[in-house]
Amino acid sequence: MGYAMKTELVETGLPKPVHRLSEEELAEKRAMTEIGAEVVAYMESYMRRKGFVQLMPVLLSPITDPLWPDPAAGIYKRLEFEIYGKTVRTMHSMIVHKLVAVSLLHKKIFIVSPNIRLEKPERSKTGRHLFEFSQLDFEARGATSKQIRKLIEGMLAGLVKHIGSSKKAELSSLHASLPKFSTPFKVLSREELEARYGTDWEEELPKHIDEPVWITDLPREFYDFEDPVTHKWDNFDLYLPKRGELVTGAKREYEHSKMLAKMRKAGVKEELYATLLDLAKDGKIKQSAGAGIGVERLIAWITSARHIGEVQPFPKIPGAVYEL
Ligand code: AMP
Ligand code: MG
Repeated sequence: MGYAMKTELVETGLPKPVHRLSEEELAEKRAMTEIGAEVVAYMESYMRRKGFVQLMPVLLSPITDPLWPDPAAGIYKRLEFEIYGKTVRTMHSMIVHKLVAVSLLHKKIFIVSPNIRLEKPERSKTGRHLFEFSQLDFEARGATSKQIRKLIEGMLAGLVKHIGSSKKAELSSLHASLPKFSTPFKVLSREELEARYGTDWEEELPKHIDEPVWITDLPREFYDFEDPVTHKWDNFDLYLPKRGELVTGAKREYEHSKMLAKMRKAGVKEELYATLLDLAKDGKIKQSAGAGIGVERLIAWITSARHIGEVQPFPKIPGAVYEL
């Protein structure tokens, strides 16, 4: 892979703050952020073409994503503080807001949603974790997981083609080679992967693929749909060659009793989700499916970045708090 930003990474192994970049490094950052802007613009217009209504993001709320149980989570601290006499949290993701908005407001919604997750400092070296990042987060009432996967495949195929034709100069200045793949992507189950690579499959799989692959049936948070009889989970992740997870999505639970039972089983505090549970009890939460695409991970893939912090104008690397 032709990695970009070699200059910037030499000193510490981590991307530097913008005010410490040399002229040459600033030129690379300019190309990265120029491509990044086009990626976001393409995705927004793709979602609008598909009939999704764009909502503005939420940053603080008493309710956020528990990120539990999710084997991929590695939070070292949960940010909670008081405003106006209420405890609020930073958005880990807008999942609960999405479930409510897609039930009460619009049939199809999307948000470019900034998330704050204080990842463990050792995750600075994975090259794919940030403590501030954004998701292209979307949800569709009545949709299936398969429809959501197809939508994402169409978006990624169109995006790579569009960036290839519109950002030639920037790609070439970064020595970036655009990913090559054909759609539909292969679908593998977690069970198959555990048989092939053991429980460490998340680390192993990216080393053995040369095109993106969907993984299904991943036991995790209460809001993903679990078949009550087979206990198979109707959810999915998209894994990229070398880079690992890019997308997480699912068909959702919408029934009060199922959500509550899963919260209790996982030890998630049900009182934090009382509003969602009340709406579900009144039959107001509708079945939906959706996903979240990591925007910076996507840009890093498209630009052949070595570390995800390179694509941010102001890198937010776990364990490293820069002045800017
Ligand atoms: P999740 O719901 O936790 O799977 O997050 C949705 C998507 O956001 C993931 O599939 C990643 O692409 C991206 N993401 C999650 N955590 C981080 C992080 N710490 N830094 C950058 N991107 C992330
Ligand atoms: Mg995930």
